[in-house]
Amino acid sequence: MEGPVPELAHRWRLGVESAAMTNATATSELDAVIVGAGFAGLYMLHKLRGSGLRARIFEAGSGVGGTWFWNRYPGARCDVESMEYSFKFDDALQQEWKWSERYSEQPEIMRYLNHVADRYELRRDIALETRVTSAHFDEGTSRWNVSTDRGDRVSANFCIMATGCLSSTNTPEFPGLDSFAGRVFHTGKWPHEPIDFTGRRVGIIGTGSSAIQAIPIIAKQARHLFVFQRTPNFSVPAQNGPLDPEVQERIKAHYGELRRLGSQMPFGFDVQLNEKSALEVSEAEREAEYEQRWKHGGLPFLGSYADLLYNKEANETAAAFIRRKIAEIVKDPKLAALLSPEPTDVAGCKRLCSDSGYFETFNRSNVTLVDVRSAPIEAITPTGLSTGKETFAFDDLILATGFDAMTGSLLRVDIRGAGGATLGERWAEGPRTYLGLSVVGFPNLFMISGPGSPSVLTNMVVSIEQHVEWIAECIGYLRSKGLARIEATLDAQNDWVAHVNEVADSSLYPRCNSWYLGANVPGKPRVFMPYLGFPPYVEKCNQVASRGYEGFRLG
Ligand SMILES: Cc1cc2nc3c(=O)[nH]c(=O)nc-3n(C[C@H](O)[C@H](O)[C@H](O)COP(=O)(O)OP(=O)(O)OC[C@H]3O[C@@H](n4cnc5c(N)ncnc54)[C@H](O)[C@@H]3O)c2cc1C
Repeated sequence: MEGPVPELAHRWRLGVESAAMTNATATSELDAVIVGAGFAGLYMLHKLRGSGLRARIFEAGSGVGGTWFWNRYPGARCDVESMEYSFKFDDALQQEWKWSERYSEQPEIMRYLNHVADRYELRRDIALETRVTSAHFDEGTSRWNVSTDRGDRVSANFCIMATGCLSSTNTPEFPGLDSFAGRVFHTGKWPHEPIDFTGRRVGIIGTGSSAIQAIPIIAKQARHLFVFQRTPNFSVPAQNGPLDPEVQERIKAHYGELRRLGSQMPFGFDVQLNEKSALEVSEAEREAEYEQRWKHGGLPFLGSYADLLYNKEANETAAAFIRRKIAEIVKDPKLAALLSPEPTDVAGCKRLCSDSGYFETFNRSNVTLVDVRSAPIEAITPTGLSTGKETFAFDDLILATGFDAMTGSLLRVDIRGAGGATLGERWAEGPRTYLGLSVVGFPNLFMISGPGSPSVLTNMVVSIEQHVEWIAECIGYLRSKGLARIEATLDAQNDWVAHVNEVADSSLYPRCNSWYLGANVPGKPRVFMPYLGFPPYVEKCNQVASRGYEGFRLG
């Protein structure tokens, strides 16, 4: 059903009173407000509805899909195979959906998430183009008062932040950025209409995952592409290609087994983990293993040996292999050296990139690699960019500068808990949570894949499903006991934060300047945010629930 004026249709469907429409501040009563309509928000809505709750989503974008709605840059695709980077909660859904590629591209993932929204009739409870601006906890009623940029006022028992870990773009403050006369794009907020770079000179800043996917495609279109690199990244070929329908059917015949295997892996998907140490085998055996993994493609490269992310010496064997591959692929030795991470760098310490022809692209005569570590960017000019050493002229500028990860979207909302303290104040020295789900002082507020949970270190769909199911069960438990309030205790939170750090410190992860640590955003506190190890995390969550929500105060 549609409202009479398309622009207002979403509001009409939603049935939420809007101050903008009514000149009043009428408040709608809900059981739960969900912020965000990506994988997390969509499943959360479906799950809560299934338990008979009145829940609604507010989504800033004009469509569902989250990450896959915003990241439409050329070459955007998943780095976990689609057969695993998809929901498993409904066997009918996973059996009926057909993926066309091993690693599907953004438009296909968007189609999938739109199919999910339609299949479970979610749209009638989703308000699009509506950004949640504040969420304030009312001590008297134990409810959250949520407001949006459209003037909505909603009161809900529970507020669930499904706002995404990589949904707040990061744009460094380059002097002169506003003066650039050409087109400026951010990979994380790409326009909806097709962008044609034919015949144009393009500059791209950044060489992280998004840039590594986009560069080979843009280089084929553009007259000239300047790649401004500060830090070279480890990348392995995805070896992407069409997904053979027969292979897909064979997987589907035993889908449960693959899903079970994935959730028993530290990263929530099947990396074919070899339990040996890289240091206990001969050089020849190691070389053969890496070669076979390189041919297989993608993130399972990191599963070559059990200690790659724990022992620097072991890691260096993999890192050296990748550097040798770069030297083989890139014909100009100077360029190859510039594209190679240093021997001090840890492979996989930043999320390993998975590419389709990235290093090969630098053999093209229309591509220039510019090292902005030795000569940093000084300013963006009306016609390009200057590094102090040189100036570069181009027509279009692409910022592939990543995200304010994990905390960015949470902190951009004015969230005030019991006693009125803001989440920003509580997290001034970095995020502190209990299980990445809950924060002391913020009763009835849940985060999906929040800091302190496995989240971005995993196949996120698996982590999201686990969180959604845990939250739904928790709310069901409270209702069954006639309870209105749940809040993490300080002791439980402190113990959990200490444990997250201890586990991280046993690995090589804290050794590099990654966005896992907030190192890409100036001034952001350096805290290793995700929890390493999906299976022990799930065990802990299950234990907490089975002990009547141990570590939480219920009331
Ligand atoms: C290019 C790219 C590729 C990726 N590939 C993979 C992959 O292969 N495997 C993997 O595991 N992960 C991958 N990720 C991570 C990806 O973010 C997650 O897999 C997943 O899509 C997250 O879903 P989500 O629902 O938690 O968050 P999102 O998809 O980010 O959705 C959050 C939504 O919340 C909305 N929102 C935020 N704040 C507000 C507000 N205040 N009011 C209203 N709405 C708000 C946003 O607009 C957004 O639509 C990738 C990320 C990127 C950027």
